[in-house]
Amino acid sequence: KLEQALAARDPKDLRSPICCILGHVDTGKTKILDNIRRTNVQDGEAGGITQQIGATYIPASAVETRTEELRKGRQFDLKLPGLLVIDTPGHESFSNLRSRGSGLCDIAILVIDLMHGLEQQTIESINLLKMRKTPFIIAMNKVDRLYKWQTVANSPIQDAMARQEEYVRKEFEDRYNQVALQLNEQGLNVALYWKNRDPRSFISIVPTSAITGEGIPDLLQLVVKLTQSLMAERLMFVNNLESTVLEVKQIEGLGTTIDVVLVNGMLREGDTIVVCGLGGPIVTTIRALLTPQPMREIRVKGQYVHHKELRAAMGVKIAAHNLESAVAGTQLYVVGPDDDVEDLKDAVMEDMQDIFSSVDKT
Ligand code: GDP
Repeated sequence: KLEQALAARDPKDLRSPICCILGHVDTGKTKILDNIRRTNVQDGEAGGITQQIGATYIPASAVETRTEELRKGRQFDLKLPGLLVIDTPGHESFSNLRSRGSGLCDIAILVIDLMHGLEQQTIESINLLKMRKTPFIIAMNKVDRLYKWQTVANSPIQDAMARQEEYVRKEFEDRYNQVALQLNEQGLNVALYWKNRDPRSFISIVPTSAITGEGIPDLLQLVVKLTQSLMAERLMFVNNLESTVLEVKQIEGLGTTIDVVLVNGMLREGDTIVVCGLGGPIVTTIRALLTPQPMREIRVKGQYVHHKELRAAMGVKIAAHNLESAVAGTQLYVVGPDDDVEDLKDAVMEDMQDIFSSVDKT
């Protein structure tokens, strides 16, 4: 079944992987996200890249365009419909992105500043990733800050390296070796991604510059390749809802809403949902399923598109009554025809215990 689905490359059979970006402050997490989003802006439609609630959706076609030069005519064999990148980088939001005690993110990008090496929040991030067993790759960012670095915007990183003077490459190697050693001390085996023969045991490092875009095609390609080769089973679309509350927000005209990441399955207007609340389980009905209006600032009021139903993976806003005390970081359940509401009420409240016990650990 799995192989059939992969061979057919039917975007209905695989969901998009969810990717988080984390690392120390000022390493360039936001800039990397910006750079990925800016892909193909020149063609007006931003290559189909869409802004969702709390996330950016990058369709397979945009990944293909961005990696054209890197592939040098080779086929990509892309099987995923796209990639969902969570918009709020940093480990606070990553901590909230849990799903039944494990990580909600299918893959993460850990950003390290090549000039600074491992910093306090880098180590915290590594510990979180280990705890959640989230596979990750490392962006070794700010290569353009190497003395006398010659830039060709958006080029694949090996091409960029080949253009540099010997002493620039030497400085890169020295810094890379230093950071690799620090990562070894954290118990991580690492390799430059093009030398990595065993991605299950060695973590791949991609040198990048979020400012010049060098290495960003490599980063995108690697995220997609790794998720589709190592996680095909996890990414099978199933009709079982898996969904996590990211944020609880007051919106004018809508009242209290919840922003959720729909990881798998479907949500429909009118569904009865069960959500964890501070004072106990909340059972309510979805009044509106919303995504931002394309190409507009999402904070402008009344700028949402209403949907009858939505399919994973997606970032979605839900409007419903009684959400005031909803708790971020918990699961959301839909009451199906065979479900016992009481069971689901118990299930959502278990998440609350999880959250409080993991707050101590992180
Ligand atoms: P965040 O805190 O990790 O999200 O970091 P930001 O994306 O806000 O970047 C922090 C600072 O580093 C900003 O001034 C960026 O312009 C700068 N920066 C980020 N990435 C790069 C890079 O690749 N090269 C250079 N030279 N500067 C960068």
